[in-house]
Amino acid sequence: MTEGINPKKRTTIYVDPNIHKQFKEICEREDVSASQKIEQFEFDYVNAHCHGNPQTLLQTHFNPPNLICFRCKGKFRQLISVEYVSGYLAKLCSECLEKDRKRGIVKKAKLK
Ligand SMILES: [Zn+2]
Repeated sequence: MTEGINPKKRTTIYVDPNIHKQFKEICEREDVSASQKIEQFEFDYVNAHCHGNPQTLLQTHFNPPNLICFRCKGKFRQLISVEYVSGYLAKLCSECLEKDRKRGIVKKAKLK
């Protein structure tokens, strides 16, 4: 396993341009590079999910959930429409909504 500071790899990803613009502005305000933020997110995500996402392990064969949560990318039968304080709209599972509510970034949420 790798450790510490590794040589960086340049990559291309597709993102929402409006969110990305706001993301870069916030990074600049916080005096941290967008790459550092993304790398930290990936590090945390990989450590949280490296043993598998429990939601996908619990799928049934009957009426399988097919709605994908914007946050965790898990599949669900029902998602909640969320408006963030940034104005961004997304559909989340209840667990991710709860996490984002605790972060104080949810403006409105409604079950659809
Ligand atoms: Zn989720």
